[in-house]
Amino acid sequence: YRSAVVRRAVFLPRHCRPLQGIVFKDIFPVFQDSTAVEALITNFVYHVSSTHTEKVDVVVGLDARGFLFGPLIALRLGAAFVPVRKQGKLPGETVSTVYAKEYGEDIFELQKSAIKAGQRAIIVDDLIATGGSAKAAGELVRKAGGKTVEYLFVMELSFLNGAAKLDAPSYSLVKLD
Ligand code: IMP
Repeated sequence: YRSAVVRRAVFLPRHCRPLQGIVFKDIFPVFQDSTAVEALITNFVYHVSSTHTEKVDVVVGLDARGFLFGPLIALRLGAAFVPVRKQGKLPGETVSTVYAKEYGEDIFELQKSAIKAGQRAIIVDDLIATGGSAKAAGELVRKAGGKTVEYLFVMELSFLNGAAKLDAPSYSLVKLD
């Protein structure tokens, strides 16, 4: 086993190797406590309802953990839920954009017909780090004809300044310095 691990480390291309000092923040334990989930969703919904006087039409969730929170928030707001997915997963006509990740580049897609011209969208994800993914989702909303009015995150790695890249205000429940 040990030698298998060593071999794997040797043959992985440099850009795929885990970077030292990067600690992964895991959101899944929240879902072991339904009261915590309730509090988290209520907080987001209260924030959105008290900040935006105009109706939010669409909640956009990012692949994959944005799918855990997006539909719950959309349900409470009486809004549609629309997924942003990695390339090749969505049927029909899509808009797409390239974004930079920790280990290289990737492509995000959104179904073109899922957002109507002028619709107001909120983008949701579990965590914002560099802001590359959320920024790409904002571009997709714009390409589909919508307008992003806010970004919601459970956690924000504030020291990476990702929120500064976004085209609308952002709201995070927990900020980590
Ligand atoms: P960014 O594009 O650099 O802001 O990275 C944010 C995206 O990567 C989100 O979709 C997150 O789900 C994911 N991500 C990056 N780091 C973490 C982490 O520590 N915990 C959970 N998700 C992360």
